[in-house]
Amino acid sequence: MHVFQKNSNIFHLLSEGVSEGIIVVNTKQQIVATNSSANEMFGYEKEELLDKSIDTVIPKRYHTDHNKHVDKFILKSEKRSMGQGRELYGVKKNGQEFPVEAGLNPFKLYGSTYVMALITDITERKNYTENLERIVQERTKQLTEALAKEKELSELKTRFLSLVSHEFKTPLSSILTSVTLLGKYTKTDEQKKRDKHVNTIRNKVMYLDTILNDFLSIERLDSGKMHYKLEEFPLSKLVNEVIYDANMLLKPGQQIKYPENIDDLIIKFDEKTLELGLSNLIYNAIKYSPEDTTIEVIVNRKTTNLEICVKDEGIGIPKKDQKHIFDRYFRAENALLTQGTGIGLNIAKQHLKNLDATLDFSSVENQGSTFTITIPLEI
Ligand code: ADP
Repeated sequence: MHVFQKNSNIFHLLSEGVSEGIIVVNTKQQIVATNSSANEMFGYEKEELLDKSIDTVIPKRYHTDHNKHVDKFILKSEKRSMGQGRELYGVKKNGQEFPVEAGLNPFKLYGSTYVMALITDITERKNYTENLERIVQERTKQLTEALAKEKELSELKTRFLSLVSHEFKTPLSSILTSVTLLGKYTKTDEQKKRDKHVNTIRNKVMYLDTILNDFLSIERLDSGKMHYKLEEFPLSKLVNEVIYDANMLLKPGQQIKYPENIDDLIIKFDEKTLELGLSNLIYNAIKYSPEDTTIEVIVNRKTTNLEICVKDEGIGIPKKDQKHIFDRYFRAENALLTQGTGIGLNIAKQHLKNLDATLDFSSVENQGSTFTITIPLEI
């Protein structure tokens, strides 16, 4: 007769009011007593667990591990909770596993050592915690994304504002100077000086106009308000117009070489987009090349497409900056002393892409760059 059975009334009295499951084992790890919470938790009848090994309620994969723990634990004979820092599971009679928390209390009774395990089924708590964790993770992710977007937007705004103020300040102040000086040249024979200032004003206004067009173009691109018109037109007409305008911006000694053999070339494309792309490339070639250099416009007719190249002998693009050249607002290190916004190439490339055309380049720092627009030809 078991000591616990002998004292079953006392054990009963003490353990039945407890909501935790109580399982008492002897040093051989045999179950010698359980309360009804434990029976219910593991799905056994009253007394069904008695004399069974503690392994009965522990999933197989923990068996050896567990025995080691219990041995050590009994030797040390001290109170502690199990499963700290790792997940602990119990197994029901029907084989179903569930997460538990267990506190182990060794004690001696009539000279024998026992361990009383206080067991709590934490399925719900675990589900709740996991759910909560999921919700928190999800929310954190959403908030982080929202924050990043907000930050990006405000950075863009700041950048845009400083860009606009910076880019507009210089041309506007030189226009103001020219206008002030113009007012002072009142004599008839000062026409030459007047012309010079009128020219400066025209140039600066043209420059501001291109920047504004770039900004508007960005807005239209980003809001999807672009309407392209595919029309047939002679390439030479467009090239002539763009080069004509560009000639006014040339530095002393710079010249633009026209492409050969394009007189009879009729292409079908959105004319405004090609004009925007080509003028961007030629203006850049002028801007990023020193005096006394040649800018060459070359047209290559391939079987399925047409390449329009703009080749310069300018400052080139440092290797490390090349991969960013088409990023909006990006400007290479060696370009920072020249005025610019880092917008032109980005929008030209996007517009061209929308029309199945491409914009690429090759460049060697201090030697020059070649930018190439490739547009598909209808065959
Ligand atoms: P922006 O000229 O206003 O800075 P772009 O978008 O036209 O803007 O060009 C982006 C960057 O690409 C320039 O800042 C410059 O660093 C580089 N770049 C473009 N064209 C040339 C060129 N022909 N030679 C050297 N660098 C160039």
